[in-house]
Amino acid sequence: MEKFPIAVAYGDGIGPEIMRATLKILKAAGAQLDITEIDIGEKLYLKGIETGIAPDSWEVLKNSKIFLKAPITTPRGGGYKSLNVSIRKAFGLYANVRPCISYRPFVRTKHPDMDVVVIRENEEDLYSGIEHRQTNQVYQCLKLVSRPGSEKIIRYAFEYAVEHNRKKVSCFVKDNIMKLTDGLFHKVFNEISVEYPDIETDTWIVDIGAARLADTPEKFDVVVMPNLYGDILSDVAAQIAGSIGLAGSSNIGEHLAMFEAIHGSAPDIAGQNIANPSGLLHGAIMMLVHMHQVDVAAKIHNAWLKTIEDGIHTRDIYVEGVSKEVVGTKEFGEAVIDRLAYKPQVLKEAKYYAPKIIKSWSDKQHIAIKECVGVDVFIDWNKGKPNDIGSQLSKLEVNSMKLKVITNRGIKVFPDGLEQTFCTDHWRCRFVKPDGATVTPSEIIELVSKVNEAGFDFIKTENLYTFDGEPGFSAVHG
Ligand code: NAD
Repeated sequence: MEKFPIAVAYGDGIGPEIMRATLKILKAAGAQLDITEIDIGEKLYLKGIETGIAPDSWEVLKNSKIFLKAPITTPRGGGYKSLNVSIRKAFGLYANVRPCISYRPFVRTKHPDMDVVVIRENEEDLYSGIEHRQTNQVYQCLKLVSRPGSEKIIRYAFEYAVEHNRKKVSCFVKDNIMKLTDGLFHKVFNEISVEYPDIETDTWIVDIGAARLADTPEKFDVVVMPNLYGDILSDVAAQIAGSIGLAGSSNIGEHLAMFEAIHGSAPDIAGQNIANPSGLLHGAIMMLVHMHQVDVAAKIHNAWLKTIEDGIHTRDIYVEGVSKEVVGTKEFGEAVIDRLAYKPQVLKEAKYYAPKIIKSWSDKQHIAIKECVGVDVFIDWNKGKPNDIGSQLSKLEVNSMKLKVITNRGIKVFPDGLEQTFCTDHWRCRFVKPDGATVTPSEIIELVSKVNEAGFDFIKTENLYTFDGEPGFSAVHG
């Protein structure tokens, strides 16, 4: 078999020792890899390279399809960019896949039947990194959710379920509150689920879904969610499965895929030959499946399961009475190599099939008719009560476009606000024409000039659009 070129980074802390143990197992099992080592992590940050990756290493990644990465240490304090976030964004690694499985009775867990795969959207949501301080009191972070972004991750989750013989895909959202952004994610989930009639589906509001996932994870199978919920819940799922030291993850893009352990560089135990290499090994197994070396992947996974069954455990999962022998990182790797011809007797045998190319989002987009029907003008103002700002702005008019409502942190305060509502210095003032008539850009510019001339500090405007007649903006509460 031809060798597959991959980029490998040894990382920081326990990174080099777990990478050495992992690569030794891969080699002994017959993985066909052509490795290029790249330099990332702490020493580059400390040299003043704020991205944490050397320029020539970045070039290697640009020409790679696969990246096996050990954890790195991000120095504390300002100025350092998260390398993981940079790689995900630059290379469009849209899907983060994290299987969280318990290995009862060999690894202690409160959830013996857990076998959940968390599929997290990796590029959008509150992680767009677009934040602004707008007034003395108020800061804003933009949550961006796109149709292609949602389609890509949701289709990925369904295709993953089909390929891995999984029965159910659950969607976690908060669309009772974020009706447009999470509402889109939910809508796309419903649309795509129709194409997979053999897969059972359900949708959870993320708060109760998270509670159920933590309480009865055995009720879940594949779970797909937007970035922030996925970030939090994939850690919860890995932890309750037994140990954060066991799980691997993949970050899948159309050009590059990155595989790693989910834990960090564990500087507290670095260099002592006590770290568990299993998380990185599981990342490497996912990598082998991705590059179609499925027999080698299954051989390693089954040898690992047998090692765990035989009670050969690293210190982090050692339990008196369950474990037979506590071993170091290197010795654990050797124990896996010794069992490459074996299969587990109690735990479920791993079987892999070459994955299909997963369909991305469809090009057949419906282009909706977009019309502007008003504008929200955001104002920084701290000179009085809602009725004061309301009565002053009510005097402004451009071709029948007039003030309709003012909200403060999303709560209606004018007209007819409640005396008791707490107000900050951040006011959203909505201007529309009667009967939803359209508004032109020059009318908006004229209105904003009038707001400015009236002595108000406008922070920004958001145009109010309809798409095929449906409002593309949230209604006002209160
Ligand atoms: P951590 O995951 O490194 O460690 C948390 C705890 O788990 C520690 O007690 C550690 O000893 C233990 N642990 C972790 N992996 C283990 C393993 N394989 N075997 C045995 N025990 C293990 O988290 P942290 O301490 O919060 O972060 C340390 C550094 O790692 C930070 O600089 C952080 O930024 C970085 N980090 C990197 C990544 C990554 O590169 N993907 C991910 C998370 C954190």
